[in-house]
Amino acid sequence: MIIFENLNSKAVLKLHNLYFKPFISSREIDEAIQKMVEEISADMGDEVPVFVGILNGSFMFVSDFVKKYPKPCEVTFIKLASYEGLKSSEDIHRLIGLTQDLTDRKVIILEDIIDSGKTLAEVYRIFKNEKVKELKIATLFYKPEAYKKDFKLHYVGIKIPNKFIVGYGLDYNGLGRDIPEVYQLKTTQHMKNLVLFGPPGAGKGTQAEFLKEKYNLVHISTGDVFRYNIKNETALGMLAKSFMDKGELVPDKVTIDMLNAEVEKNSDAEGFIFDGFPRTEAQAQALDELMDSKDSEISAMIALEVDDEVLVKRLIERGKTSGRPDDSDEIIIRNRIKEYYDKTAILKNYYSGKDKYFGVNGVGEIQEITDRLCKVIDRL
Ligand code: AMP
Repeated sequence: MIIFENLNSKAVLKLHNLYFKPFISSREIDEAIQKMVEEISADMGDEVPVFVGILNGSFMFVSDFVKKYPKPCEVTFIKLASYEGLKSSEDIHRLIGLTQDLTDRKVIILEDIIDSGKTLAEVYRIFKNEKVKELKIATLFYKPEAYKKDFKLHYVGIKIPNKFIVGYGLDYNGLGRDIPEVYQLKTTQHMKNLVLFGPPGAGKGTQAEFLKEKYNLVHISTGDVFRYNIKNETALGMLAKSFMDKGELVPDKVTIDMLNAEVEKNSDAEGFIFDGFPRTEAQAQALDELMDSKDSEISAMIALEVDDEVLVKRLIERGKTSGRPDDSDEIIIRNRIKEYYDKTAILKNYYSGKDKYFGVNGVGEIQEITDRLCKVIDRL
């Protein structure tokens, strides 16, 4: 089954159980083929070459290639079928096709992709007995890091890293050959990444505890990480403390580096709940870049909306037991709330602009609020 989703305005392709991201556009493929055609036709001179495509993967490449080829040529296909041997692990290859006489002809193999070079070795073995004038190899895609053979590759279209690709003739378990562009397997599969947003005292921490269990996510609260560092008297803690005690934001650079490190620590997570981050536009951009480097993205910002006076009351209550210095003083509390609206409300626009902002009423019973949040998340 193929599903196209529009995440972050990028199409994500799903084939069977795996997700792929766009990698090489039709235009890039077209340009690479055009260059190969020019090189090969110059080398062939007046000779009429025989192009031999290796099925199944090369059908699209061969078709586009010969349409561009400016002089007369012949086209044929061969298919290598591999069977597991009963005793040995050696593949047994069988040749399907190649019925025509290639004696004294210039033959050019057209391959869609060369990675380990195993197929290529087989092709060479097959052509050893044909009395061709010349055998040359042309491949549209080539994975230098994976190539283990010594055969010369005469014409290479596009070099690619050693990652699984589909599209333009290439398949994953039968699917994807028909797609005109090339997609690459995402390094992280489908993650759910939520930004839990709201003023201090909105109940982000409480709700995050429920959500991380329900959706199997890693909860990162930047405030908690800072407090942990302060308690353990680390350099980061000492640096953060002076800002936190006044209810001010810790400088972006410090916070962003710290968050990157937290995400790296959990590189196999199915997704994250970011709580207390981002708080500035620079942090939001840094988070987008970080997610992008993981082949992922922020799915939604969900904001708990709570009236200021309710917040102040809640925080003063919490201060009686939490031991947090920034919860005990009403002036500092009001400064944190003000700081939130002054600096961080801008994020509402940031995520609204990407259609990723969801406001949720944060007043009521805890369970009631959790239900409201789940309704939003389940629809993502
Ligand atoms: P919180 O527990 O989220 O209310 O955060 C407590 C304090 O930690 C804040 O008032 C800031 O001083 C600091 N802090 C937490 N997250 C951030 C952030 N993303 N950027 C800057 N400072 C932060």
